[in-house]
Amino acid sequence: MNTQTPKHKIKHPFTENLLQWAKENPRHLPWKDTNDPYKIWLSEIILQQTRVAQGRPYYEKFAATYPTVENLANAPEDEVMRMWEGLGYYSRARNMHAAAKYIAGELKGKFPNTHKEILQLKGVGPYTAAAIASFAFELPHAVVDGNVYRVLARRFGIETPIDSTEGKKEFALLAEELLDREKPSVYNQAIMDFGSTHCTPANPSCTDCPLQENCVAHHKGLISKLPLKSKKLKRTTRYFHYFMLQLPNDTFLLQKRIGKGIWRNLYQFPLIEAAQLLDFEALTQTEEWQQLFANQEVVLKKSSKTYKHQLTHQTIFLQFFELQLKEKPSTLLDCIEVKAADFDSYAFPRVMNLFLEDRANQESGQLEMF
Ligand code: SF4
Repeated sequence: MNTQTPKHKIKHPFTENLLQWAKENPRHLPWKDTNDPYKIWLSEIILQQTRVAQGRPYYEKFAATYPTVENLANAPEDEVMRMWEGLGYYSRARNMHAAAKYIAGELKGKFPNTHKEILQLKGVGPYTAAAIASFAFELPHAVVDGNVYRVLARRFGIETPIDSTEGKKEFALLAEELLDREKPSVYNQAIMDFGSTHCTPANPSCTDCPLQENCVAHHKGLISKLPLKSKKLKRTTRYFHYFMLQLPNDTFLLQKRIGKGIWRNLYQFPLIEAAQLLDFEALTQTEEWQQLFANQEVVLKKSSKTYKHQLTHQTIFLQFFELQLKEKPSTLLDCIEVKAADFDSYAFPRVMNLFLEDRANQESGQLEMF
C-alpha cells in the first residue's frame, strides 16, 4: 500500500484554468505588492462595494497619510471622514477607524493573524476576513463576493438564489472545494480578477473564455439570468430640503448628522425632510419650518435646482435654499458657525459638495444654475 501523501493535490479543472488565466492576465494593483496585513485590510475595506478604479486613489491617499495602523488609530475622526469623502457607505470609515484603535490599543499594534481573530474586527465580514487571511498570511480560506457568486453560478449553472441561506452555504462549500490550498492568495485574487474583468455582469467575454467549454450558463443560454437573487431590492424615495443659513457675521450653520441613518457623522446644512418636494412657499407652511425658525425673520436669497442622489436602497431628491437670518435660531444651537472659505475642512455628503461646486461656478459666472 502506498502511504506516501501526494505532494500536490489534484486541482479541479476549473481551478487549473483559472490559475492559468491569471498567469496570462496579470493585474497590477498597489495592494498586491505587499503582504502587510494592515495595508491589505485597508484596501479590502476601501474596495467593499467600490470599483477598483474609484477605490485606488483612496487607498493610495490612506496608505500614504497613515502608513501604520497606529497612525490611523491616532487620527481625529473628522479627518478620517474627510479623507473618505466621496467614497460613500461611511460606516466603513467609522468601523475601520474603530478597528484601528482596537488593534493599536488592545492588540498593541499587532494585526491579528488568524481567520477567527480577523473576523472579529469591526467592519470585517466573512469575505474580507478570507481575503486578508489569504493575502497576508496565505491561510486557506476562499473568498466569496459578488464576483465569485457570478463566476461560480454561471460556470456550474447554479440556480440557487445567492441571497438565500441555502445558496450562501452551497456557494461557500463549492468555493472552499475549488480553492487552491497551496496558493490561496493567488487563487482568491484570480477568481476576483476574473469576475471583475472577464466574466463581467453585462457582456462577459465568453468568446475567448478559458472556462467556456464547461460553462453551463454559456451552453444553456443562462448568462443574463445567473446569478439568481430571491429578493428584489426595496427602494425608498426621500425628499430633503437643505437650508444654507447665513448669519450676519457671514458664517453658515452646519450640523453633524447623528443617529443610525445615512451619512452619519458627516456635516450638512440643517434640513427638513418631507413626503414630497416642496417649493419655498409650501415649506414655510410646514410644522417643521415653524419649529425650526419659530417667529424668526427669514429672507430667501436663492434656491437651487433639484438634485437626485442614488444610493443602493434609496433615491434622494434634494433642493438647497440660501436663507439670510438675523440671528442663530434657538432650535439650532447645536450647529456650528463656519465661514464658506472653511467648508473644505468638513466632510460633507457628496451631493452637498456637488451643490457647493455648482454654486461656486455660478458665482464665477460659469453656470446658470439658479
Ligand atoms: S463562458 Fe462566459 S459566462 Fe461562462 S465563465 Fe466564461 S465569461 Fe463567464
